[in-house]
Amino acid sequence: RQPKELPKIRRLHDSVVNRIAAGEVIQRPVSAVKELVENSIDARSTAINVAVKDGGLKLIQVSDDGHGIRYEDLPILCERHTTSKLSTFEDLQSIKSMGFRGEALASMTYVAHVTVTTITNGQLHGYRVSYKDGAMEHEPKACAAVKGTQIMVENLFYNMVARRKTLQNSADDYSKIVDLLSRFAIHHIGLSFSCRKHGAARADVHTVATSSRLDAIKSVYGVSVAHNLLKVEAQDDDPSSSIFEMNGFISNSSYSAKKTTMVLFINDRLVECTALKRAMEVVYAATLPKASKPFIYMAITLPPEHVDVNVHPTKKEVSLLSQEVIIGKIQSLVESKLRNSNEARTFQEQT
Ligand code: ADP
Ligand code: MG
Repeated sequence: RQPKELPKIRRLHDSVVNRIAAGEVIQRPVSAVKELVENSIDARSTAINVAVKDGGLKLIQVSDDGHGIRYEDLPILCERHTTSKLSTFEDLQSIKSMGFRGEALASMTYVAHVTVTTITNGQLHGYRVSYKDGAMEHEPKACAAVKGTQIMVENLFYNMVARRKTLQNSADDYSKIVDLLSRFAIHHIGLSFSCRKHGAARADVHTVATSSRLDAIKSVYGVSVAHNLLKVEAQDDDPSSSIFEMNGFISNSSYSAKKTTMVLFINDRLVECTALKRAMEVVYAATLPKASKPFIYMAITLPPEHVDVNVHPTKKEVSLLSQEVIIGKIQSLVESKLRNSNEARTFQEQT
């Protein structure tokens, strides 16, 4: 006998599946900005400009001067799992581009209104086309365009009432976007970045291409940060553990802040690593008398096969082979650097 309240399993409609998946990839306005900027970087741009209205809910606009998108590709551009970057699963092991899953643009079209304007090298004019739910809303229209691609995302989460309400009340996504662009700008120093509120004359992040990391940090985070940094560097090619390279800047004992700023790139990917951040905070608290929270910029290079980039829907975290060993090494390096600089300072003050 079948009790009549037994739940029946149904197959979800594609549009439901896609919207649910999209909500995971694009969690908030800043996640859309991250995906768009990474696409611009992947397109070998040298200048990336971001404009935002209403914390990104009304409008996110990212313009680049990259290689553009081929006319023939426009019909499938925003379909799920369409990409120019990955073809076999094995490619994931050696992938250099930020993107690889072909999900970002598609996701945006399921939770917002997306318009793409693009021109490829050697073309006389560009094309503009709008997308909804993975598909073009009309044929691409010829239009005037400057080199590269501009993507507009309008009315984000218009069809996700709860998400939109929560975000409207929090209203701090613009600062998250500024923070994101700041991070990109001090890592990709050969590119110029800007980020502003739509229509504003002044940009809140504005960098020009430079060869000096310290200059980039100065222009983004200010002199009070840049003047209080120590350079850290490590090379390790002990094949028994793992081959890694690290370089960065860490705040010295004169720096003071209530919150840790940890800007971490692993194989050129902006990621978070809670374990490493904690380890750094522990070193600072133990080494420096007045326990200020540190500023840390760190770029780590590892063999690609030691980094799993596909562990998080927003690619915010990566998982590392022999993470503990690596963190241990960085921790002792930072500790001795801090100790040395502090002793030198104390010595200077005494003489
Ligand atoms: P992924 O980056 O994982 O490939 P996306 O959905 O982010 O997936 O983008 C799909 C494709 O659209 C990319 O593979 C790329 O070919 C193209 N594309 C997206 N943004 C740009 C851009 N700004 N310039 C040039 N091509 C782009
Ligand atoms: Mg992408």
